Amino acid sequence: MADEVPARPVVLTIAGLDPSGGAGIVADIKTIAAFGCFPSGAITSITFQNTTGVFGAEHQTASSLRSQIEPIMADMLVSGAKTGMLPTAELIREVVRVFSETELPAPVVDPVMVSTSGYDLIGAEAADLLKNDLLRLARIVTPNIPEAERLSGINIMNQSDMRVAAEVIKQLGPAAVLVKGGHRVSSSEDDAVDVLLNEHGEFIEFRDEYVDVGDVHGSGCTLSAAIASCLALDMSVEESVRQAKRYVTDRIRALRQSSRIGHGARPL
Ligand code: PLP
Repeated sequence: MADEVPARPVVLTIAGLDPSGGAGIVADIKTIAAFGCFPSGAITSITFQNTTGVFGAEHQTASSLRSQIEPIMADMLVSGAKTGMLPTAELIREVVRVFSETELPAPVVDPVMVSTSGYDLIGAEAADLLKNDLLRLARIVTPNIPEAERLSGINIMNQSDMRVAAEVIKQLGPAAVLVKGGHRVSSSEDDAVDVLLNEHGEFIEFRDEYVDVGDVHGSGCTLSAAIASCLALDMSVEESVRQAKRYVTDRIRALRQSSRIGHGARPL
């Protein structure tokens, strides 16, 4: 009899739908599968968008979100989780309830706020709840610079500001914080630097070649889904971030050789 192949760890993404496939839950599903995990997904909002912009959205209710998640949990052992676009206070309250009252693993929280094209993906009250109620449940939160500024109240001009912002955000309760510098905050124009403040209070710097292919679409979603997958595969937070970053950088690098999909920001 053939040996049974071990089951792939199930990773749940709670995120928005970008029907054009570049960001949100479709990007998450592609990523989770690429890491050898089994993707499951609950949709928080149906957005109307393509690579050129976001044109609107129809948000789900707390009850429709719960009705998506409960049957998954009743049937499967979920080993990893992430949250993406959580546009309303009602949805954030429900997500907080789900993560505090069930056996779901602590999520990777991607604090999605504004799209690359400038569309607001979260309301003001929801942003406050994300900061004050959801972050304390996170295994790791992954803000980019504008998100880290909004969560910490600190104006980030350099890498030392990134560290201070990470310390302030950690006070809100997540086990770890990854501030993504991208091209904006770097000692060298050729590098992209991210700063991890891990669960032991240590800073770890990740420095990569900055690959300039113009605006890219869905990189934050892809990174957080990759981290959630690596955590589900029992890697440490530091190793998960390392693997996830390598994956995103490789995907961006691959765009140099790929013909364009869409007319706007380039999907990974
Ligand atoms: N649409 C959805 C549903 C998202 O979750 C996100 C980001 O997380 C975006 C759009 C924005 O993606 P980007 O800023 O990479 O274009």
